Amino acid sequence: MARYHVETYGCTSNRGESQAIERALRAGGHRPVEDVSNADVAILNTCTVVEKTERNMLRRAKELDEATPADLVVTGCMALAQGDAFAEAGIDGEVLHWDDVPEYVRNGECPTTTPGTDVLLDGVTGILPIARGCLSDCSYCITKQATGTIDSPPIEENVEKARQLLDAGARELRITGQDTGVYGMDDGEAKLPELLRRICALPGDFRVRVGMANPKGVHGMRDELAAVFAEHDELYNFLHAPVQSGSDDVLSDMRRRHRRPHFEELVETFEQTLDYWTLATDFIVGFPTESESDFQASLDLLRAFAPAKVNVTRFSKRPGTHAAEMDGLGGTIKKERSKAMTDLKMDVVGAAHEAMVGDRHELLFVEDGTDESLVGYDEAHRQVAVPGAQSMGHSLGEFVEVEITGHNTVYALGEPI
Ligand code: SF4
Repeated sequence: MARYHVETYGCTSNRGESQAIERALRAGGHRPVEDVSNADVAILNTCTVVEKTERNMLRRAKELDEATPADLVVTGCMALAQGDAFAEAGIDGEVLHWDDVPEYVRNGECPTTTPGTDVLLDGVTGILPIARGCLSDCSYCITKQATGTIDSPPIEENVEKARQLLDAGARELRITGQDTGVYGMDDGEAKLPELLRRICALPGDFRVRVGMANPKGVHGMRDELAAVFAEHDELYNFLHAPVQSGSDDVLSDMRRRHRRPHFEELVETFEQTLDYWTLATDFIVGFPTESESDFQASLDLLRAFAPAKVNVTRFSKRPGTHAAEMDGLGGTIKKERSKAMTDLKMDVVGAAHEAMVGDRHELLFVEDGTDESLVGYDEAHRQVAVPGAQSMGHSLGEFVEVEITGHNTVYALGEPI
């Protein structure tokens, strides 16, 4: 869990982007702070209307960079249009698209979902935390200190919560937890596959996204889990398994429970079972003990498995964690590695989107986009924006078939058929 400070400049649309970032951060258990000197991460959401604004943005970014111990994230229009200007001005900030900010703030830790295990209906999306806690003890994680070991309510209880969300109007259920793959293991039994079968059997036309599952937990049930995905159209064919590093030495120092072969075998099973699916994974770069060859191993893994969704986090110390006491790498090395991995990620993710162009997919609209557009997710939980969808009479919660017409680095673009 991080303490974050957000500053927003410019138009109403940019303020809306900040609100979306804050919603995602709060849902992940992070806390806002007014005083940037108390923050772990400072977020500057920039505007670039006129030259004077740009000078102000650079000045403010420099102040935040120099005057606070916080990591600096620069997002917004100026960051996207003139991202190099910050580095050229000597500012040590991570330049990110709005959509990538929450993942960066997460710093490689698991989300803490909502307080307790309460459900939450956000538009047509129902957030369903199935358990709290994990079985791990990652050396960089502060979340664990708040959430503790896995505590799983019975399957019936979670199915009832899912039913309530659907009755309340949810068309999409997002199953969350620190590590959904270890749900039930406090009772000595992996219960995720059975929970998914039971939820998919509920009446209604809906989709289910399974949230983050660490590779070790799901590795032991990979055949059964992949089969459940294949059997049920309600499940998005989407697996978020954060590998964090391609080097077993680094994974050991991170105190991750998995090693590279666990991740590789897991992905191969899904690859063999599902025709069209999305692998999402996370990498932490610049961990204190990461050598150049360890880093190259992470790049190799990213290249080899080419996930369609990748989160890259530049390691930063969280006070109170074991990793914070390790001798760290220099900021320049971390920055160079972060840039190299982000560049590769852009190529890999861009190629995954490019491969979709010309295909037809069924979307579920779940979010308003800019202007008259709507944003939906296809069968593999790939994000697709449909320009003008609202003026064509489409609305949230609707399923629609689209042809993919293009893409940018974050999402695909589609046209209703
Ligand atoms: S799995 Fe690791 S990163 Fe996630 S909450 Fe547990 S200890 Fe933290």
